Amino acid sequence: MTEQITTVSAYAAPAPEAPLERTTVPRRPVGEFDVLIDIKYAGICHSDIHQARDGWGEGIYPMVPGHEIAGIVTEVGPGVTKVTAGDRVGVGCMVDSCRECENCKAGLEQYCLEGNTPTYNGLGRDGEPTYGGYSTHVVVDQAFTLRIPEGISLDEAAPLLCAGITTYSPLAHWNAGPGKKVAVVGLGGLGHLGVKIAHAMGAEVTVLSQSLRKKDDGLKLGADHYYATSDEATFQELAGTFDLIVSTVSAPLPLDKYLGLLRADGVFANVGAPEEPVSLNLFSVIAGRKTLAGSMIGGIQETQEMLDFCAAHGIGSEIELIGADQINEAYERVLASDVRYRFVIDAATI
Ligand code: NAP
Ligand code: ZN
Ligand code: ZN
Repeated sequence: MTEQITTVSAYAAPAPEAPLERTTVPRRPVGEFDVLIDIKYAGICHSDIHQARDGWGEGIYPMVPGHEIAGIVTEVGPGVTKVTAGDRVGVGCMVDSCRECENCKAGLEQYCLEGNTPTYNGLGRDGEPTYGGYSTHVVVDQAFTLRIPEGISLDEAAPLLCAGITTYSPLAHWNAGPGKKVAVVGLGGLGHLGVKIAHAMGAEVTVLSQSLRKKDDGLKLGADHYYATSDEATFQELAGTFDLIVSTVSAPLPLDKYLGLLRADGVFANVGAPEEPVSLNLFSVIAGRKTLAGSMIGGIQETQEMLDFCAAHGIGSEIELIGADQINEAYERVLASDVRYRFVIDAATI
């Protein structure tokens, strides 16, 4: 067993204004219940960009982003029973939680009352900063590892660990399925997986994108309909249509307009995390008994359920594989909504 803190290669943002650059970070020794993972791929989530540039505030630097991790187990602690060396595993947005509060006990570790431990840009329960997946190795407690089913390649699986679960969870919670009209707003990393998953669940799926540029892709991914939100006619034509709208938009949206697209008792589930607040006219929810809701990633058990669901339905992410030296360029393309549909870093280049 490794007894010493090891130093591994990583890409980090040294400060909010600075581009990411190669560096090294410490990884703790493999403890009793720990798993050492040889990272093969790490997805680039828009949340990485919000945080690396300190858009949400209180960023911890240097920051190694990355919470869509897929790799191979190379070493386990003596108490580990969940995985063994050689297993294909994933790590998502959290690496620990209190495990005792009512939310943790209910499998909602993401809503841990003491705060979950984020995979990066947080402090571990040992008080040390956490460093994410833009790195060659990570040490994680077995309870926060996920099994990646054989049916999904590791590169296409990585984005499922955040983008996949973040869309699966609200779709499952609000019963997307046959007979339900579901809209996905924003066809980016989260949105394209939301379309695939909602389609596999049996819902009638509509994409609401800023333009019709990606319409052919949207229909191939499983959407039944595709509309441009830049066209005011869209909001008139689709008024009162949807049972569920999942918004993945990274910028503030005019919520009142979108709430008008719900039928009575419909739900607008927001997962996008813009850096600025939004405003709301409460009549938009009063009229029609509508629900404005939010949702954050998913619990560990639900994340495994999502991975198994994706494997059973042949769902992986559409990816553009990049070398680590292209991370900064990829960030700019994500910000310009020029992503088809997830950048994934080949960790061999880190
Ligand atoms: P992304 O790949 O950049 O996709 C976001 C999409 O939103 C874009 O592709 C674009 O789609 C649309 N969009 C962007 N700017 C817009 C604007 N000004 N107005 C209207 N639409 C716009 O990002 P992502 O990785 O999917 O993440 C999306 C958001 O979810 C981010 O804010 C991220 O931090 C957040 N997030 C939240 C959770 C959670 O647990 N709740 C988890 C992961 C990520 P079109 O080109 O189709 O219009
Ligand atoms: Zn994410
Ligand atoms: Zn807890």
